[in-house]
Amino acid sequence: MPKTAQIFQTPKGFHDILPQDQKYWERLRKVVRTLAAEYGFKRIDSPIAEDSGLFSKTLGLSSDIVEKQTFTFKTKGGDSLTLRPEGTAGVMRAYIEHGLSVMPQPLKLFYFGPMFRYEQPQSGRYRQFYQFGFEVIGESDPVIDAQLIKVFYNIYSELGIKGLTVQINSIGCKVCRPGYRSLLKDYYRNRVKKLCSDCRRRFKENPLRLLDCKDEKCQLFKSQAPHTVDHLCKECHDHFKSVLEFLDELELPYNLNPFLVRGLDYYTKTVFEIWPDSAQTQVAALGAGGRFDDFIEVLGGKSTPAMGAAGGVERTVNLMKVQEIKVPSAGIRPKIFLIQLGDRAKKKSLVLFEEFRKAGLAPAEAFSKQSIKAQLRIADKIGTQISLILGQKEVMDGNIILREMSSGVQEIIPLEKILNEVKKRLKK
Ligand code: AMP
Repeated sequence: MPKTAQIFQTPKGFHDILPQDQKYWERLRKVVRTLAAEYGFKRIDSPIAEDSGLFSKTLGLSSDIVEKQTFTFKTKGGDSLTLRPEGTAGVMRAYIEHGLSVMPQPLKLFYFGPMFRYEQPQSGRYRQFYQFGFEVIGESDPVIDAQLIKVFYNIYSELGIKGLTVQINSIGCKVCRPGYRSLLKDYYRNRVKKLCSDCRRRFKENPLRLLDCKDEKCQLFKSQAPHTVDHLCKECHDHFKSVLEFLDELELPYNLNPFLVRGLDYYTKTVFEIWPDSAQTQVAALGAGGRFDDFIEVLGGKSTPAMGAAGGVERTVNLMKVQEIKVPSAGIRPKIFLIQLGDRAKKKSLVLFEEFRKAGLAPAEAFSKQSIKAQLRIADKIGTQISLILGQKEVMDGNIILREMSSGVQEIIPLEKILNEVKKRLKK
């Protein structure tokens, strides 16, 4: 290699998903797909880049995400695009753009894909990370909230994750939240000087976020702050009460968490997070969501209630590893190995491979290897039940050798009969 060659690495906060990790990803994708189908969610894929205005309008200009965490760029044509920091905005844009409100409501949609946030990378925090998300559009009934929380809980428990808790709160709506917000500001007003620098900013721009500050300095003030649930309007109060009753009915344990406010401005009423066992991981939420009844209207659609949540894939995969959860390996495990010796046999084997593959029995092979010993060793390692051996002589005679790997017994079989013979033996 020339001395000046540059060794490239993934950009900060970006990461590869290596072959040995794919089995965890595949398992998670499968559980998400299965539960989505069982609960009647249809898949939607929106692009990873959107008009920048979509996010500033919906996430709130003062939210941490829009303020400092977006990857925004100008196209050559002069448009400002943003790599999506979350999935809901794109899905709701698609809902309006394609007139999906004409479909039977509530419309249940799910997605799975990469998100981008310009964050300081740390454990469980990346700049490109994957989320799966579920959205229920067009229904305000609290049963929707409870069932969606259950779906999320089920995803993690289906994966075998232990030690989960559901954290839940209600942060009110545009009727009751302004009153609560000024109450909170009144409470913090003569304490502002003692808060951390982030909280001093939050006090001005997004006072609800004062409640989820993790800084040591702010904890005492936080613990005595007024709670959202004590200042809900009747509608929000009744809604929250029903959500909890439905969760009780489902026997889903939850923790009423007055400090759960969520980072995004668009939430109304119910907010929730699913937490892993804190002893095992430093990251807080595996998944999170809530109701966002004003979102579609803010985007210029007709007023439509909605509820949704998203789960982080990397955090979940990391936890599956920490908890040593067993997952089947991704890909197919071949039952047959195709061994070839000599040029003519190699050519014939290529064709035979295709025949077996079309019949749904793709064999393992090592076409680039020459010696029978090397090929048998690989077959042994993979643990195939049968090896098929094709040498020059067999090609000339129109035969192939079938070797039962456990016993080492070999038989010569006419080539045209081999597929059926293998099928018969695999059935046994
Ligand atoms: P949010 O969209 O902020 O509500 O986050 C929902 C879930 O996505 C979180 O609970 C995490 O599991 C995951 N998540 C959010 N931000 C990141 C990140 N920077 N890196 C990895 N996972 C993330």
